[in-house]
Amino acid sequence: MTASPTLRQLLHDGRQALEAVNNPAAAPRFEAELLLARCLGQGRSYLFAHADDPAPESAADTFRELIDRRVEGEPIAYMTGEQEFWSLPLKVNPAVLIPRPETELLVELALERLPLDRTLRVADIGTGSGAIALAIASERPQAEVHAVDLSPEALDVARDNAEHLGLSTVTFHCGSWCEPLDGDFDAVISNPPYVRSDDAYLETGDLRFEPRVALTPGDDELLAFRSIARGAEERLRPGGWLLFEHGFDQGEAVRKLLEERGWEAVATLQDLAHKDRVTLGRKPA
Ligand code: GLN
Repeated sequence: MTASPTLRQLLHDGRQALEAVNNPAAAPRFEAELLLARCLGQGRSYLFAHADDPAPESAADTFRELIDRRVEGEPIAYMTGEQEFWSLPLKVNPAVLIPRPETELLVELALERLPLDRTLRVADIGTGSGAIALAIASERPQAEVHAVDLSPEALDVARDNAEHLGLSTVTFHCGSWCEPLDGDFDAVISNPPYVRSDDAYLETGDLRFEPRVALTPGDDELLAFRSIARGAEERLRPGGWLLFEHGFDQGEAVRKLLEERGWEAVATLQDLAHKDRVTLGRKPA
């Protein structure tokens, strides 16, 4: 009988397997550590304190399976079931888009327009895991936040997140864009599907495993922006803000769409990678 491998050996092998895939987005060492810690039911620090311990056989087997799945491209967040956003630990599964760091810009810009000292109503259209709605709720405890999604499976995830984070000011609605909502909002925020259905980007990395409906609105990449802008016009109070995340090459088109419909103070802002990422506008007073 061969001796069980130590945690150090397992990590080394897992990391090597991940490095061989040459996925530029991956962090092989970190991912191997996350997965092994998870198989042991421990935090990552445990791995360093116990590097020379033999691994329990069942944990070693599970770890090798997870590494194989990761080698096949499965997103790490779906395997761990977690993704951090705005410092909130969110649960995720394949019914929802994995929250992206660049979406934190959308939250930041919304918060700049949402004062702490008065009552507020905020909508998140296409909430998915609930990331945007929950980030806003965590920073503006006095706000009434309404989150909409077409997918009941996504709403299950979002509700679960609201519950385990104890953020009870968010109400969830199933439906299309702004349709389930009434009026008098201070802000409508959305990271809607905006990748064209024939874009080869959809066949890369994590996107291959994510819900198509969260990524692409079909052939017309601006469809969601148009529908949400129309819905937001009717539901924002005068002076209220509409904020969209969009693709790096869509800033001009989204600005044009809002300007043509009479929105004020229309502007596009860039993310940390200096790419056009958010366009916003104010409903005329
Ligand atoms: N920003 C995502 C990406 O580029 C796409 C998300 C979306 O369509 N809303 O991977």
